[in-house]
Parts: sequence; structure tokens; C-alpha cells
Amino acid sequence: MSDTPITQKIHITGIVQGVGFRPYVFNLASKMRINGWVRNTSSGLEIVASGEPSDLDRFIQALRNHPPTLAHVDSFEASLSEYEQFDHFEIRESNSVSTEFVPISPDISICDDCRRELFDPADRRYRYPFINCTNCGPRFSIIKDIPYDRPLTTMSDFAMCADCLQEYTAPSDRRYHAQPIACAQCGPAVSFKMPGKTELFAEQAISAARALLREGKILALKGLGGYHLACDALNRDAVERLRQRKHRSEKPFALMSFDLDTMKRFVQISETEAALLESPQHTIVLLEKNDGVSALDHTAPRQNQLGMMLPYTPLHLLLLEPESGFPEALVMTSGNFSEEPIAYRDDEALTRLQPLADAFLLHNRPIHMRVDDSVVRVFGEQVYPIRRARGYAPEPLKVPYILPQILSCGAELKNTFALSRQGYIFLSHHIGDLENLETLSSFTQGIEHYKRLFHLEPTAIAVDLHPDYLSTLFGQNLSREQNIPLFKVQHHHAHLASCLVDNDYREAAPVIGLIFDGTGYGTDGVIWGGEFLLGGYNAVDRVYHLSEIALPGGDSAIRNPAKIALSYLQAAGIDWTPDLFPVKSFQEEQRVILAQQLSHMVNCLLTTSMGRLFDAVSSLLGIRHHISYEGQAAIELENICDRSENQTYDLPINGSRIDTLALFPQILKDMRNGVSHAVIAARFHNAIANCCLVICQKFRTSTGVNKVALSGGVWQNMTLLRKTTQLLYSDGFEPLIHHRVPANDGGISLGQTLIAASLLHAL
Ligand code: ZN
Ligand code: ZN
Ligand code: FE
Repeated sequence: MSDTPITQKIHITGIVQGVGFRPYVFNLASKMRINGWVRNTSSGLEIVASGEPSDLDRFIQALRNHPPTLAHVDSFEASLSEYEQFDHFEIRESNSVSTEFVPISPDISICDDCRRELFDPADRRYRYPFINCTNCGPRFSIIKDIPYDRPLTTMSDFAMCADCLQEYTAPSDRRYHAQPIACAQCGPAVSFKMPGKTELFAEQAISAARALLREGKILALKGLGGYHLACDALNRDAVERLRQRKHRSEKPFALMSFDLDTMKRFVQISETEAALLESPQHTIVLLEKNDGVSALDHTAPRQNQLGMMLPYTPLHLLLLEPESGFPEALVMTSGNFSEEPIAYRDDEALTRLQPLADAFLLHNRPIHMRVDDSVVRVFGEQVYPIRRARGYAPEPLKVPYILPQILSCGAELKNTFALSRQGYIFLSHHIGDLENLETLSSFTQGIEHYKRLFHLEPTAIAVDLHPDYLSTLFGQNLSREQNIPLFKVQHHHAHLASCLVDNDYREAAPVIGLIFDGTGYGTDGVIWGGEFLLGGYNAVDRVYHLSEIALPGGDSAIRNPAKIALSYLQAAGIDWTPDLFPVKSFQEEQRVILAQQLSHMVNCLLTTSMGRLFDAVSSLLGIRHHISYEGQAAIELENICDRSENQTYDLPINGSRIDTLALFPQILKDMRNGVSHAVIAARFHNAIANCCLVICQKFRTSTGVNKVALSGGVWQNMTLLRKTTQLLYSDGFEPLIHHRVPANDGGISLGQTLIAASLLHAL
């Protein structure tokens, strides 16, 4: 006996468009004897479904519990409505309301189905480098405007052939409404350009590019969100040439191998790491090198880890296809001179990259938005982000608050911006170091693009307290022009807030913040960076901090850890005897000038930076006196740590000051007693971790607070993170670490948003 049919209205929000949701609903409805319709709206997906109650129940359960793979459902509401009779189920035209918004899907790496077709000689897209479907392919990087529809993407110039159109319009097809759908007949094509040679196309272009790589030459390769520079990673000369041309002397290069098995020859891969490598994001994962395998050491000098990724476009797969003699790993570094943003427009790339590359592998599908590769590592079986970009952005972070529209401009290095609306924060993809005009225009264009895509018109602006950051100046001007409120947010407060919201923290009670980084402007004009805070979104107290020391020459000392070491030694009353490594690294005359500069505080800034303390110890041990990339001295110090060493140094606390100067006589004593640098480095790490525990215990005694937020770039030091969290856990503390956004300055804009919202009484 059949029940009386009823009608349910369903509304779903989140990333529900451009991910194959409508055909999925259509097919499910047909299977479950449901009639009615589904359509995209400007706020999500709307379904009206009629059928027998038990069928409807199953239908709703299936939608709720098994949405399409790429969908990200934020809310799901189903309600009974007046019965409507339909004789079939259909997909209806979109209904858009211009003030609402829908999140946009990030770019998605090639899916298993497309990969199978790519290598299937019987398939009509066999070896077609731009194969994609509803579940994979470019999204964010090709979208010019919303709604997400082919005419508003960079695919608008490619008219579909009859076969593609057939697939695009058949709800049962896995390419139904796949906006970038294409085939060799109608879609984008590759070409190979080399000075003085005829341009090659299709298979010939790919073969020529492979031959070039085999010969140890450098290839500029157009990818999803920009250009890469590629070369044979196992070829020392090729890698060296790339370093010289790119002006990147020692910073590690990202690598790509065809599959996990190939990768495993070089690095260890846990299950969690494998899952991330193969995830829809296909991010770069930092992986521990295999013992005794040094074949790729020159790609990442003095590192214990290599940053590796799997091919994420069909073109990558064709380019890296295994064959005897073909490199098992390629360097895949962003196509730019060091410090500039990645090239993404063809005319621009051809001129800018011409001096860097021997040839180009191009295609004619324009990139609208530049997006770098994302970088993560795994800590405690969880994602620990380093750089949030391709595959993650522009997916917004859902927060448990209704936020006003705030534009947060972020910091300077590793800049991101953020725009908030209702329960979402659109945290931008990694923009880069805001130190030149190219990156600044990438920043301003990015803000305009996000505003257009998500219908945003900010009513408040948050900036860093640093008066000279380009992001600060930009925000200040905008606030003046538009006459909207401006919030200047202290850098380390923003780090704390970023970590809190990353952990969904929504209580009013304060949290302990261990906020360690290189540089952040303090409320007293001192450069902070070793801060022990107590507070929340609304306000913080800076309760303890590291000893202040002089930064001779201000920011320029950051490139010169030996100067910082000498500054520490002088402050600690230790003579600059010629047996000391940092002393030896200078000429006599330079030392005299430096000594005068320090004793009279000429052109010196004061800092409490934890990053600088690591730099000083690194130089003192003779590891690194000059750096060629941010964090290098500290990273190399971490990498030599003896993992079994348990002893530590005394780190006294005087009032609100952690007396870091006291470390230096102890380290020198160990050095003079012939203790190995590996052991000294470990004892130094232990001292910082212990100090964190002692301070947290003091906080707990005086306030009862038990939660500890760890944020700031220094927490990319996994040795310190491991030691500190272990100590905290074993003493009953609850450490909060980052999972969705980086601990470094990439998370600052997110923290700024929460603080501004709190000051606007929106939390
Ligand atoms: Zn696919
Ligand atoms: Zn076609
Ligand atoms: Fe910072």
C-alpha cells in the first residue's frame, strides 16, 4: 500500500555549486522516484521534492549524509511544504539575487576518472592535456565573475563541439555543467616555444619539453594558477643553473614526482601524508628524507625534509610520465625572479621568464587569478599549514559568529588579506611579501576580485600596527577615502586571535598565548616577537617577554645573524674574543664600527624577537652568519638538533622579562668543553620549551587558565613545537595549534578580522 505523497523544500548552503551537486540530485531523484526540481540560487542550492514519505526520507538522508565529493555543506534545511504535483524531476535555471553570495570552489586536481580516461587509448580524450569533469579541473583561477558559468570564465572563447555540448547538457553525464569541459577538437591546446625553433603543438610539444628536461635544461611551464620553472631535480648542474638564474641561492625548491612509489625512493610518506598528497588539493607536503639517500640534497641544502607534490593537472601527468632515463623528480618552482610574484599572464611570462627558461610549454587557456601552490606538513597526524593557496582558497572559513563586512589587510611578509561576511571569512590565497610594486598590485587586484565574486562592500578596515607596511598604508588610505572606521591591530594579538578562531574558540575566558615570530610592531615601538600574552579576541595583556636587545642597523640585521649574535654577547657582557664564530665572521674594522654602533645605540632598534634569538644561537654555533631566505639560520639550527638530548639551560625570569642573556655563558661553556653542536642546539630548544611550561604554570596559578595558543612563525619549528606541546600536555594544559591557517604571518589577516569584529561588538 502506498502512502499519500508529500512535498519537501530543501535548502543547502556552502560550496554546492560547480561541484556536480545538481546532476547528483537529479540522478538520486530519478533513482528514488522523486519528482520536482533543483536549482542554484545566489545563496546555495534549492530543491523542491515530491514523493512518498518513505522515498523522500531516503532521498533526504542520502543528500544529507553523502553529498558529492567536492561539496562542502555548511547548512542543510529541509521542511514540509504544501503538496505540489510534478510528473518528472528537472534541473531549473539559476535564480540569482545580486546581494547574496555563494562560495566558489578552489581549483581541484585531476580526479581518478579523468586520469583513467587520459591514459585510455579508447577514450575520445586520450592524452588530452586539459581533460576535466564536474569533479575536477580549474575553478577559482579561471573565474572572472559570478555566477560561475562558462561565459564568465576564461573558457568563454572556446565554443564547445557537438560531443562536448552533448555531455555538458546531459544530467546523467559526469561532465554535466562542467564549465571548463573541453576536448582536443574544441578546447585549449599546448604549444612548445624555444628561441630560434619552430613552434610545436600537441604530442610534439610535450615530447619536445620532455627531451629538454632530460638534457638538463630549464622549462617554463604554464600550470593552473601560474607558471612554474621546471628542471631535472637529480641533475646538479641543472638545479645550480636554475638557482643562478632565479637569484635563489639556497632556499629549498619544491619537487614533483609522477606517483607515490617514485617519491618513496627519496622520502618517507605516512598514511596521513599520502592522503594529503593525493587529496583534491594536491598540496606540497614537507616530507622527511630517507636515511642515506642524498640524490636530491642539492635541491634543499641542509634540510631534513623535501617539499614534494604529485602531478595535479593532466598536462603534468603527460609531462612526467615514467620512461627509462626520464627524471624521477622535477624541480617545480614558481616562475619568477626571487621575491616577485609568480608569472601568470602569457605576454608577461614570455618576457619576464625569457632570461630564466630555455623553452616554454604553454597553453591558450588564460589564467585569470594567480594562485601559488599550497604547502603543508603533518604534525600529530593532522594538517599543519605553511602556505594556504591553490586548492584551499577561496574556500571561506566558517566561523560561529555573524560578522560585519570587514577588510583585513594582513601584515607584510607572506601577506594574505581577509574579507568577512555573515558567518564566513574569505581568507585570500597567499599573496607574497608586500615589498615591491608587483606584489602590491597583486594584493589590490585580489581584494577587488574577492569583493566582486562574493558581493562584498566592507564597512570597516583592519590593519597592522606597523606604520610602514604597504598593507597598513593601503588600508589607511582606503578608510580615509571611504570614510569607514580603521582598526590598528597589534601583530601578536592578531596571531593569538588567528589561532583561537582556527580552533573554533568562542568563549569569553582569556587564553595564554605563546606568540613567537621574527618581527611585529609593539605598542611601545619596540619590535616584539617573543611574547607571552593573556587575553582573547577583544584585548590582551603582554605579561612576559624576552629581554630586549639591540638590532644594529635595524631590519638589515635580520639578514645578518652574526650581528645579532654579537649584540647578544655584548648585552650579556661577554667579550668578543677571536675564537668565537660570529666574531671571526667580521673584519676587524667592521667589528669596531659595530661595537660603537651598539654602545651608543646608533641606528639600532630594540627587539624582543624569538626569531632573532634563534638566529644569534645559530651564528654562535658557527652554523649560519648570513641568510639568503627568511628563517634560514633558525631552520639550520633546528636541523642539527640531537633528538635524544634531554638536558637544558637555565632561563631565569626577572619580573616580566625572560632573561635570554643568561643563555649565552652557558652555551659558551658547553662549546669550550667540547659538547657537540647537535647537543647544544637541542639543549637550547629544551630551554625554550621548558620556559614555555614554567610561564604557563605561573599563568595557571594566578588565573586558572589552562588553554595555550601557539602561534607565530617560530612555531614552524617542529622540534620546538613537539617538545613544547609534549610538556604542556603532560602537565594537563590544553595546547591550541593551527590546523586551517598557517602559524606564520599568512594567518594575520584572519586574526585582525576577529579583533576588529570584537571591537565592533559583533562577537
Ligand atoms: Zn575529473
Ligand atoms: Zn569538444
Ligand atoms: Fe608574525
